[in-house]
Amino acid sequence: MSRYFCHDHPEILTLETRVLDARPGAVLLVQSPFHPGGGGQLADRGRLAWQSGDVRVTGFEVADGRVWHLLAEPVEPSGVVHVTVDPTFRAAQTELHTGAHILNALVYRHFDGALITGAQLGDDLTARIDFDLPGVDNDRLRALDAELNDVIRQDLPVRYAWQPLERAATEPGLLRSRSVAPPPAPDGTVRIVEIVGLDRQACGGTHLTSTGQSRPVRILKVDNKGRHNRRVRMGLSRGS
Ligand SMILES: [Zn+2]
Repeated sequence: MSRYFCHDHPEILTLETRVLDARPGAVLLVQSPFHPGGGGQLADRGRLAWQSGDVRVTGFEVADGRVWHLLAEPVEPSGVVHVTVDPTFRAAQTELHTGAHILNALVYRHFDGALITGAQLGDDLTARIDFDLPGVDNDRLRALDAELNDVIRQDLPVRYAWQPLERAATEPGLLRSRSVAPPPAPDGTVRIVEIVGLDRQACGGTHLTSTGQSRPVRILKVDNKGRHNRRVRMGLSRGS
């Protein structure tokens, strides 16, 4: 879990910066507003413009805490660049990611601390989250729909803190994934996301500043995936 510029400044989606290093089709920047994806959240999309060109940013490669921006063409930008994150795409990921937290908070609370075994946000306003929930009646999961939307209506604030991974690992529920603990930042800390009054967990993604900014959420489907796993598909309601 590297520490990204967007963790401190999620509202800044365009900025002027400089090229630190480049190779054909990839560039390293002094500063970047992009979220490179991870933990189920899809990488930001956007563009990069410089004195003699303009190119689409198609993906990211994180190596040694440095984020290489992968470009749609084999160009080598240099000097001052103007970068822009696709605001609609980021907003949808942020909203969906927040809904996913509310869902997994409710599952954790109502199903004896059930952990996540996988999560993936889509680019179609839906997400799937897998839980380690052997022997659970799927109707109980479907019934969380009402409580989920109740949390949205309560407009709970979302806050952040960084704390040492060692300490985070001793607090039950803070590391919510069954399989992977988030890699700490170079200073040994992980980022804790708190939905005040509901939930705290380690996460490096982007989230709304309060739950009330979300559209209503629906649980679309619950499937059994193997003996232990339940896959819950949720979606933001369209048409608002
Ligand atoms: Zn998150």
